[in-house]
Parts: sequence; structure tokens; C-alpha cells
Amino acid sequence: MKLVIATRNAHKLEEIRAIFDFQGLEVRSAFDFPEIPDVVEDRDTLEGNAEKKAFEIAKATGCWALADDSGLEVFALNGAPGVFSARYAGDECSYDANNEKLLAELQGKKERSARFRTVLALSDPEGNVQTLEGICTGQIIAERRGTNGFGYDPLFIPDGYSETFAELDAVVKNRISHRARALQKAASEWRGLFSVN
Ligand code: IMP
Repeated sequence: MKLVIATRNAHKLEEIRAIFDFQGLEVRSAFDFPEIPDVVEDRDTLEGNAEKKAFEIAKATGCWALADDSGLEVFALNGAPGVFSARYAGDECSYDANNEKLLAELQGKKERSARFRTVLALSDPEGNVQTLEGICTGQIIAERRGTNGFGYDPLFIPDGYSETFAELDAVVKNRISHRARALQKAASEWRGLFSVN
């Protein structure tokens, strides 16, 4: 059985491969199918984008396909930046610009709870898609701290810790993050789909 991971991000690929290391399952990635164009992420929810990516890659390859979409949801901003996390401050903007905008939007606000959320979508070769999510809750602080990680990591302190994601060791982040939680759930809930008898 072949599973194609719908990403050209090498880091994500390694993380996912390590978890989907099932006997009898051949794991491929979008790198192995250069002829397939990138899927346009134009849906207005994380679920919508993840489902679209998994569906289109499964249809194009005739294999099972796994896709993910993640974002930061801030309570006081009604869930923004959410699905727009990568381009909160504008198309092609930097992580720094996104962090600046987030701080500006939260200026003077006491309520600073937030969560990172990852949605994983799995499609069978016929295009039947199922999803699940992983969540990591925390707080947005008033100025950036730390240099590890990427994106909003310097502004996010996960619940139960006093360091930001950018101050925590990658090993710790990768154990408690939204992505890790979604992948752990997928490994236990979806394992049976790939078991060989
Ligand atoms: P993606 O769906 O994994 O590409 O994530 C979309 C955007 O969400 C990224 O460009 C980041 O801005 C933000 N994001 C997702 N995961 C993380 C994380 O673990 N730390 C910080 N920012 C993240």
C-alpha cells in the first residue's frame, strides 16, 4: 500500500515519516511526484485546506494521501489569524511581520489565551477523506522571546511551561506541539487502515 504525504517541506516529511513507519506501507512524498502541481490552499478553514490537499493528491496519484494544515487561533481575536496564519500581515510576508501584527492587535488586551491547531486529512485512493485535529493551548506574551523554531513560536507559551516555544528545546516542542499531538492521534486511530494481514 502506498501513502503519499502532501508536502514538499522536508522537515515535516521527516516528522510524519517517523510516525507512519508501518510495516507494509510505502511512504512517498510530493517530492516523488514532481509532475503534480502544488495544491492551492484557498479554503477558509484548516479542515477545508487539509481535505482539499489530501483529496487532490489521492486523485492525482491513485494512492492514499495525507495532508496537514496548521494555524494559531487567538481567543480575543475571534480565532484569528487561524487559517491565515502564514499570511496574516500580507501575502509573502515574514514571520517577523506576522508577529508584529499579532502584538499590535493584542496591544492593551489582558485576555491573551490562544491555541495552535493542526488538522490532518487522510484520503483513500477513491477520494474518501477523514480528518482529525491536534491542539496545543497557551498564552501570547507581550514581546518575543527565544530563537528556536519558526512562525509565532517566540510569542507563544504553552500551558504548563514558563518558556516560549522558541525558548524550549525542539525535543520538548515536538512532544507537546499541535502537530505532534495530531500525528500521535493519527498513528493510533488510522494504523488499522494500513495493517497487512
Ligand atoms: P502550516 O500549515 O504548517 O504551513 O502552518 C501555517 C502557518 O501557521 C505557519 O506559516 C506559521 O505561521 C503558523 N504555524 C504553524 N505551526 C506553527 C508552529 O509550530 N509554531 C509557530 N507557528 C506555526
